[in-house]
Amino acid sequence: MEDCRKLAAERGWTVGEEYVDNDLSAFKGKARPEYQRMLADLASGHRDGVLIYNLDRLTRMPMELEQFVQLCERAGVSQVATVTADIDMGNDDGLFMARLLAAFAAKESARKSARIRRKALQLAEQGKPHGGPLRPFGFEEDKVAVRAEEAEVIRTLVARFLAGESARSLCTWLNEEGITTVAGGPWMTTTLRQVLRSGRIAGLREHKGEIVGDAVWEAIVTPEQRQQVLNRMEAKRVSGTRSPRRYLLSGLLRCGKCGNRLFSSLRVDTRRYVCHSGPDHGGCGRLTIVAGPVEEWISAAVLHRLDTPELADALAGRRAADERQAELWAALEADKDLLQEFALMASSRAISTAEWKTAREPVEARIRRAEQQLAHLSGTSQLEGLVGAGRELRERWDGLNLERQAAIVKAVLDYATVGPGTRGARSLDPSRLVPTWRL
Ligand SMILES: [Zn+2]
Repeated sequence: MEDCRKLAAERGWTVGEEYVDNDLSAFKGKARPEYQRMLADLASGHRDGVLIYNLDRLTRMPMELEQFVQLCERAGVSQVATVTADIDMGNDDGLFMARLLAAFAAKESARKSARIRRKALQLAEQGKPHGGPLRPFGFEEDKVAVRAEEAEVIRTLVARFLAGESARSLCTWLNEEGITTVAGGPWMTTTLRQVLRSGRIAGLREHKGEIVGDAVWEAIVTPEQRQQVLNRMEAKRVSGTRSPRRYLLSGLLRCGKCGNRLFSSLRVDTRRYVCHSGPDHGGCGRLTIVAGPVEEWISAAVLHRLDTPELADALAGRRAADERQAELWAALEADKDLLQEFALMASSRAISTAEWKTAREPVEARIRRAEQQLAHLSGTSQLEGLVGAGRELRERWDGLNLERQAAIVKAVLDYATVGPGTRGARSLDPSRLVPTWRL
């Protein structure tokens, strides 16, 4: 900034405004708000010249430079000066020079990031863990040896998260159990999510948020389980946060008369599930059932179902799905690497922008397909740790919170149809309920 101000003084330019994007590289393609503001001010004619320290501070991407040049031409801005080399955008020589410098800067940036990537890979191959003062949860101070009791906690958390329990509910559980974070404090959802989504717990080495290879430490959960965690977080992010659950069977019951979803409803202090008519709901409005007995009956049926041989058999069939998932996952990672390579080639001008677009489109389509398939497959693993545990769960069922109960029910039950009542809403005739099991 000082050098730029000095240059302005030398040239007799009045500094209209200083635009600073601190810590934002001009190469990575991240949004640079001040740069955008400067472009807007140039376009609107509020500024008539630009002074930069070096051209690579303006942009390191040839494409962006072209946009800048076009904007200057349109707005009639020909005064562009740098401290390190004078460039006159107003003539062809200057323009040529600028383009040359931008191409060179892009190549340098690409080379530098390739170097960083190589170094990260090398470190991962050597199995050297990250620096930092705190050990990761689940590991000893050397950041390599697994701490058995915490590893068990991580496996439990992953299983329960995949079974549909929320991060908030899991934090409550951790804090009630007296399990602290590595810093010795209580758990918050952000910390918990960080642990659950980290490649580290799956034996993967990360660098700047990207998996660069297998780690030397042992995996606490499988990479596929971690992928399922990521899928569920993504699905949750897309669907938005929902309010805390009040009814065990929300969204799980259907009207036996019209097939519509039943909605929870409180009438004169009796909790019910009802079929709503009207534009928002579209049901027949002619079916009501008192919540308590249905919830009891469905819970009992679910817990019984967990211990049946049919379910154990169905679970055996899950292995095939898991294998398919591992294949998909590997293909997805390979495609993501490929995209990154294309990006590097494009930024170093080894391929043109058009070639880059052509090359990446089929890969991006493949990635989207794989992600969809993975999201679909993740549904099969929700029974992890539940099958065969029906009897044990029945004993502590009333002590479980509603969300945990609902997660267990949802792992087994797709939905239940409620038939019309014959003996009044209050008494429950079990033949009214027809469950449709997931497995
Ligand atoms: Zn209905």
